[in-house]
Amino acid sequence: MIKVYNTLTRKKEIFKPMKENRVKIFVCGPTVYDSSHIGHARTYISFDVIARYLKYRGFAVFYLQNITDIDDKIIKRALETGEVTLKLARKFEKKYIEDMEALGVKNVNLYARATEHLPEIIKQIETLLSKGFAYETESGVYFDESKFPEFGKLSNRNIEDLNVHRVNPDTTKRNSGDFALWKKKDETPFWDSPWGTGRPGWHIEDTAITEEYFGPQYDIHGGGLDLIFPHHEAEIAQMESASGKKPMVRYWMHTGFLNVKGEKMSKSLGNFITIKELLEEYPPEVFRFFVLSTHYRSPIDFSQEILEQSQSGLKRIFKLAETVEDLLESEIPETNENDASHSKLLTDTKENFLEAMDNDFNTPFALSSLFDFIREINRDINDSSISKDTLKNIKIFLEEIGDILGFDFLLTESHDDLTEELVGILTSIRKKLREQKEWELSDEIRSKLGDLDIVIEDKK
Ligand code: AMP
Repeated sequence: MIKVYNTLTRKKEIFKPMKENRVKIFVCGPTVYDSSHIGHARTYISFDVIARYLKYRGFAVFYLQNITDIDDKIIKRALETGEVTLKLARKFEKKYIEDMEALGVKNVNLYARATEHLPEIIKQIETLLSKGFAYETESGVYFDESKFPEFGKLSNRNIEDLNVHRVNPDTTKRNSGDFALWKKKDETPFWDSPWGTGRPGWHIEDTAITEEYFGPQYDIHGGGLDLIFPHHEAEIAQMESASGKKPMVRYWMHTGFLNVKGEKMSKSLGNFITIKELLEEYPPEVFRFFVLSTHYRSPIDFSQEILEQSQSGLKRIFKLAETVEDLLESEIPETNENDASHSKLLTDTKENFLEAMDNDFNTPFALSSLFDFIREINRDINDSSISKDTLKNIKIFLEEIGDILGFDFLLTESHDDLTEELVGILTSIRKKLREQKEWELSDEIRSKLGDLDIVIEDKK
């Protein structure tokens, strides 16, 4: 039984999807105006492992992420650099996807761009207008916060208290907290709408996208803590008002910040390291291990020293995997008198590991059960009192938890084997192409493999 901390109820709750074993997850994607930093990576690695674990537990997961490719920040950056706004957005979206692949974040089923969902956005705004939750002014269409008394329920704030501190520079708005659904603009990029040319507000893109793919209600919505207010609060107001159905989301999940010296890593503070910069210095597994060593809801302090510690922690797991592989190749007994106790140790470790993961995806506890195991089993490995049967079971266990956490602990061999097989397939296809005098295609295969440092030489 999995328990999930729900930001909305401020409690851990038993996880039960709305429909059978199907889980629909939406996580707010990036605003693509610059390279992503390792704070972003913290959030996306956390949700990657959450999706992995739900799959491991037998749920059919559909993981959706939006790409905010229209936003004031993108327009501002394009003006600064002289690039075309949407071109700049595509460039950073490509970099983001490359960064995620490099980090092993591979469980997103669909990335949905805001600019490709304008009809859905416009339709949702029309619904809000027709139901009286929104109004039009000279500058745009706004959501009327006073029509949704529950505004503030996610962040546990009271609208009246909030409004005391708010100023309303836009005198055309009814209430200071009203937010834009549509901004009337005529500078590019703009889209046509029933309210004239313009572009959508930030909050409406997410609810339009989730309604399109998931309907008005779904299981998990995630993002970093900074998105709780006002972004996710606004999403609830929009979707629950438009559909009349509650709750929009069953479990709201938020990651803690990645901080540097106690301050959130962010573009605006200038204290950031891009994902690319980090991966030039460290393998992606080290950063993943660093992220998973802290619970996803807690803040995590980034420093070179902590990363070094992560590297040595991770090495201990890889070392065990390597030793297991080596011993399986050696001349040791298939079974021995310690098998029963080793089997119990392994079962207990797995139980503790899964119990920690079931408890709101507590990866640091899960990892610590693994390290307890490594300490104990290393003793018997050093004493040569381990059998092949036990080693095979350890190998299966390492593969299983590697799948859950996103590591390939036994990677060297399997990757080498696979590479060899794939190159074999390609070269035999190439041979056939050459026999048919398809020189262009056969050269293309040779040149593409060459880009990967795989050299093909044609000899008599
Ligand atoms: P943005 O592109 O700024 O909207 O951020 C994309 C996602 O990364 C959001 O879920 C943010 O909450 C998250 N995020 C941004 N900075 C950090 C950070 N320093 N630590 C953890 N998550 C972050």
